[in-house]
Amino acid sequence: MNKTPFVTNAQLKEIVKKYPTPFHLYDEKGIRENAKAVTKAFAWNKGYKEYFAVKANANPFLMSILKEYGIGADCSSLTELMLSNAVGITGENIMFSSNDTPLEEFVLANKLGAIINLDDFTHIAILEKTLGKLPKTLSLRYNPGGVYKLSNGIMDNPGDSKYGMTKKQLFEGYKILREKGVERFGIHAFLVSNTVTNDYYPELARTLFDLIVELKNETGISISFVNLSGGVGVPYRPEDTANDIAVIGAGVKKAFEEVLVPNGLGDVAIYTEMGRFMMAPYGCLVTKAIHEKHIYKEYIGVDACAANLMRPAIYGAYHHITVSGKENEPHDHIYDVVGSLCENCDKFAVDRALPRIDMGDLLIIHDSGAHGYAMGYNYNGRLRSAEVLLKEDGSTALIRRAETPKDYFATFDCFDSFKLDGNYPTEKQSV
Ligand SMILES: *Cc1c(COP(=O)(O)O)cnc(C)c1O
Repeated sequence: MNKTPFVTNAQLKEIVKKYPTPFHLYDEKGIRENAKAVTKAFAWNKGYKEYFAVKANANPFLMSILKEYGIGADCSSLTELMLSNAVGITGENIMFSSNDTPLEEFVLANKLGAIINLDDFTHIAILEKTLGKLPKTLSLRYNPGGVYKLSNGIMDNPGDSKYGMTKKQLFEGYKILREKGVERFGIHAFLVSNTVTNDYYPELARTLFDLIVELKNETGISISFVNLSGGVGVPYRPEDTANDIAVIGAGVKKAFEEVLVPNGLGDVAIYTEMGRFMMAPYGCLVTKAIHEKHIYKEYIGVDACAANLMRPAIYGAYHHITVSGKENEPHDHIYDVVGSLCENCDKFAVDRALPRIDMGDLLIIHDSGAHGYAMGYNYNGRLRSAEVLLKEDGSTALIRRAETPKDYFATFDCFDSFKLDGNYPTEKQSV
């Protein structure tokens, strides 16, 4: 696959006149087309709903775009709940899939009418104690343990993961919920992350469908919704093949018709909580080459750093880089593309073949739309960047301003003698 940026060099040159680099840029057209494709792929299921995983990109403007397609919000913290509610995603349009949950977050989720998805068996009693009474609808998170393999070999190790409950706890849990007056039950599982295959959701669906048939036969309890959670991946590398959400939807339908329909469970609603798939390809980090360094290796220093996009530094994750305007030039230079943190892992690319980079060149770091800005942090006193939306008509909108030093120092209000004397820049200036 050829990874072509969604923004041209001519467009970018105009955009950087208005917004200094670095910034995350989002592709409204791509977000909308994908949201439509997702809802279409599961339209066969009456109750289908995607709950966008807010942790992937907690920007209210982007969440509002998704909301237009009936997409809700999957939250796992107090502020994510507040954010969803603030953008008008309310009630059962919020899925609260948290873990190790502070109790006040259960209280807020319940107050907002969100669907609560319990990560652990012990949380049933805790929730009842916290709320006084369990909500009418509750979901439980399943962890099958062991190793989860797909036919193409992609796997993860649920047995080592902190999430969810065992099968025994799950079945026991539903029985307790029924005794305590819960009327509508859901099941949730998230077993493998960033799967670049169309098989993950269909195989997970089949696993969960078999399980809920077994539950029904054993206990008489009917599950109302199956939440396939996240894990649908995107092609970060040019040689990856993109998932086809229509094929994925059809695969889930096949399992549904083969397992649930014959067992009288044809009314089950399918929910998803995709984050990466909804947003990653439709964002990029735009940064400028500001230094070149020739030592034992060739380095290009850019004005973004791991504080803006952490995945390469923490997971060694690959993010494709395009030198804007040099798309068709030979990739005959080998560079490490680095940020300014005093951490040697702050490298966006290692030994990457790229066209010759000149100072001032604009680099597009692809697929930063999910787990990009959202994972940002302030290490080394680095400030979070702006977020800019490239609209369908080619114009741009600032959807989050860049942090200023004032934001960085704002939490020192407890320190009486702390003063900024006014000689500091209040926002990023072009030099
Ligand atoms: C992270 C997460 C998601 C989203 O995962 P993606 O891989 O980004 O789709 C969904 N649900 C839960 C509970 C998560 O923790």
